[in-house]
Amino acid sequence: MKPISLSFQWTSLLHFLTRMIFINNEFVNSVSGKVFPTINPATGEKICDVQEGDKADVDKAVAAAKEAFKLGSPWRRMDASKRGKLLMKFATLLERDAQYLGSLETLDNGKPYTQAFGECYFSSDVVNYYAGWADKIHGKTIPINGDYLCYTKHEPVGICGQIIPWNYPVPMFVWKIAPALAAGNVIVVKPAEQTPLTALYCCALLKEAGFPPGVVNIVPGYGPTAGAAISNHLDINKVAFTGSTEVGQIIMQAAGASNVKRTTLELGGKSPNVIFEDADLDTAVAAAQEAVMTNAGQCCVAGSRTFVQESIYDEFVKRTIEKAATRKVGDPYDTATEQGPQVDEEQFNKILGMIESGKKEGAKLNCGGSKAADKGYFIQPTVFSDVTDNMKIAKEEIFGPVQQIFKFKDMDEVLERANSTTYGLGAAVFTNDINKAMMFSQGVQAGTVWINCYNVVSAQAPFGGFKMSGLGRELGEYGITQYYEVKNVVVKIPQKNS
Ligand code: ADP
Repeated sequence: MKPISLSFQWTSLLHFLTRMIFINNEFVNSVSGKVFPTINPATGEKICDVQEGDKADVDKAVAAAKEAFKLGSPWRRMDASKRGKLLMKFATLLERDAQYLGSLETLDNGKPYTQAFGECYFSSDVVNYYAGWADKIHGKTIPINGDYLCYTKHEPVGICGQIIPWNYPVPMFVWKIAPALAAGNVIVVKPAEQTPLTALYCCALLKEAGFPPGVVNIVPGYGPTAGAAISNHLDINKVAFTGSTEVGQIIMQAAGASNVKRTTLELGGKSPNVIFEDADLDTAVAAAQEAVMTNAGQCCVAGSRTFVQESIYDEFVKRTIEKAATRKVGDPYDTATEQGPQVDEEQFNKILGMIESGKKEGAKLNCGGSKAADKGYFIQPTVFSDVTDNMKIAKEEIFGPVQQIFKFKDMDEVLERANSTTYGLGAAVFTNDINKAMMFSQGVQAGTVWINCYNVVSAQAPFGGFKMSGLGRELGEYGITQYYEVKNVVVKIPQKNS
């Protein structure tokens, strides 16, 4: 389905609403009256101003959520199966409006429209998956000693603060809200300041789906103000965050220091992708490049360390360079485009700085390395070879279309090097030898291991990290366990002779 040209519609009511704060099922202005600009990364020009929420607005949103969560409220009294039905309706609306939502995402985030459109369907899958969970969240009966009936109930945690990033705005929004709503929680979300528009549009869909006022509230704004107000709030019971490890540490500290909020964190990565000499070479070359370049490299689980066995190293590098040269970078509304701009000027400059550091530290720059257009934040697909483990580009997240290729000898060596990072989000191995695949997947420290594939993420399977890549899991059954408390209930059973 083709993208919609948004410019001529920009004065419509819908556009107007997606610039506001959403509390109690109403679009409102910020308490302070402040606004902040959101920028089209393909041009560097302002799209519009958005109401800027901070602590006062978070307080208002929390008050609305608290009211919605009161015992006896429509939300608390709603049948679990009805919660599922509301989620299903929301999933249908995401598909109905995928063309609009995808076009809006491309405008705000810069990702190719085909990808943004597909992400709406993926998001709909995730919502449908959790819709099915709503009336299947239940406890156990436990045979404790004595004349007692003992059972557990899985109850919602309460008010959930959810802070999301800019790289996959719609999927990240639904990964957070869908399990929380299925389990009966109420929510205050802060979208990323770079990409607030689609989450706000989703609010209109949540309202249309029939969620009661106060159940989902959205406060756009900046991290150190609106975000910090969420992670420090005494009435918020849980915080879920996706973003950088540095900010994850700040949020975890705030969550602990304020009121021991339940915390789930999905943080950074420097994921190893290991290609053994027996792998199908063309498949591995294509998959390794996609693993790091997808979404212009702005992906926490990017396969940003490509380890290639020495006997195929030169040929692998040669084919990788040829492939990078064919990658279509440009207008994200063109359906042939594979790579759009980076999300903002800050990321753009950071990536160019990392490329300079790679050159300075002696990695071989095979192709790319510069900006790819005169305006907007486009960067050429870039391939470094002869990268060594001590270089900055080998250790730190680049979050851009920059592939680093390392040489290795054997399994023991590559496993040790793959694991010598503070991160542990994803890992992959390409080989036709089942023993190598098993050995690698057993030894590598990562939340997801892909064998002969990369970036396969689905609603049903858990996603999250080892080590400093995070805490807890999202998606699948594991994802829903993060959104309920276990209550143990013990009942004295009167006995015949007592
Ligand atoms: P990136 O570095 O990729 O932009 P961040 O981790 O900075 O990612 O941001 C991810 C999300 O965290 C955004 O919504 C951002 O506003 C928010 N954020 C940033 N700093 C803080 C903070 N100190 N407290 C809470 N949230 C924050």
